[in-house]
Amino acid sequence: MAKILELSEQLANQIAAGEVVERPASVVKELVENAIDAKSTQIDIYLEEAGLKKIQIVDNGEGIAAEDVSQAFKRHATSKIYNQADLFRIRTLGFRGEALPSIASVSKVTVETSSEGEVSGTRLVLVGGKMERHEKAALRRGTKITVEQLFFNTPARLKYVKTIQTELANIGDIVNRLALSHPSIAFRLFHEGNQMLRTSGNGELRQTIAGVYGVQTTKKMRSIEAKDLDFTIRGYVSLPEVTRASRNYISTIINGRYIKNFVLNKAITQAYGSKLMVGRFPIAIIEIEMDPLLVDVNVHPTKQEVRLSKEAELVTLLKQSISEALREENLIPNAYENK
Ligand code: ADP
Ligand code: MG
Repeated sequence: MAKILELSEQLANQIAAGEVVERPASVVKELVENAIDAKSTQIDIYLEEAGLKKIQIVDNGEGIAAEDVSQAFKRHATSKIYNQADLFRIRTLGFRGEALPSIASVSKVTVETSSEGEVSGTRLVLVGGKMERHEKAALRRGTKITVEQLFFNTPARLKYVKTIQTELANIGDIVNRLALSHPSIAFRLFHEGNQMLRTSGNGELRQTIAGVYGVQTTKKMRSIEAKDLDFTIRGYVSLPEVTRASRNYISTIINGRYIKNFVLNKAITQAYGSKLMVGRFPIAIIEIEMDPLLVDVNVHPTKQEVRLSKEAELVTLLKQSISEALREENLIPNAYENK
């Protein structure tokens, strides 16, 4: 008898979920990224028990057409890339077609969605990746996706999950970064009915920062701007007197994607030189636009690590723009920025 057998789809999805769905915050990240990719202008996130009981994301984006809904839960099924050329020019946050099948394989998922020009929407219920219901439903345009009983069938993962406070802090952190990366989208985050975050969505990065870190902190930030042939940098950095004890308040965003890059984060801190005390770090939100051909986002399933061509050039430009903004004469309170 043959010993080598192909894994069932359900098992393959659960294995992928091991990488993509580490904790409630990963579910929130993947679902919000889908809402962003669907061109939503309003995204609301509702949590119960830090997402362990319930995560619900409501968006006003393009929705999913009835004929596509079940396809969205198949492994490697995506509407975002179709060929190899697309893979090298990724503009969307998703492209691997892994999130929905992975999440569905370890929870109970209800999707309610309706796309432009459809008479009625669709409601789909999956439990542990198995389709339980697929029906028509009267809905407004957009997508509402509800994830319950997370990790009900993967006890080891459930054990790994930490306290409500820790998981909630992780979700808050990821939603902050997603909001900072998308000033044109109005975000709201609720836990047990209490609002934890609200951003205006009016396209002003400064106002989004105020929504996330507060108006007082934002007043102590200076704008940076730089451009060369390959990169456009925009953003805000805190004055040297406004620091934090961790690097967690540095957000580097490349083409709308929040990324983790040690070299860039180090460059940001180094630009402060001796202005920072040891063990203190600035608050910084840095948006970098570059040709997608220069960024390889296909490095890790969560896509937070990327490989950059011309990294050294970017580091130089970034450091210059920050030291410029922090030059003594620029540190004098600026009437416009303090408004
Ligand atoms: P990926 O984002 O990599 O394409 P996903 O598994 O996250 O893979 O989603 C599969 C597909 O489902 C997406 O390509 C998209 O077409 C559709 N989809 C998922 N979420 C939404 C949403 N909130 N609004 C519209 N379409 C969505
Ligand atoms: Mg996705």
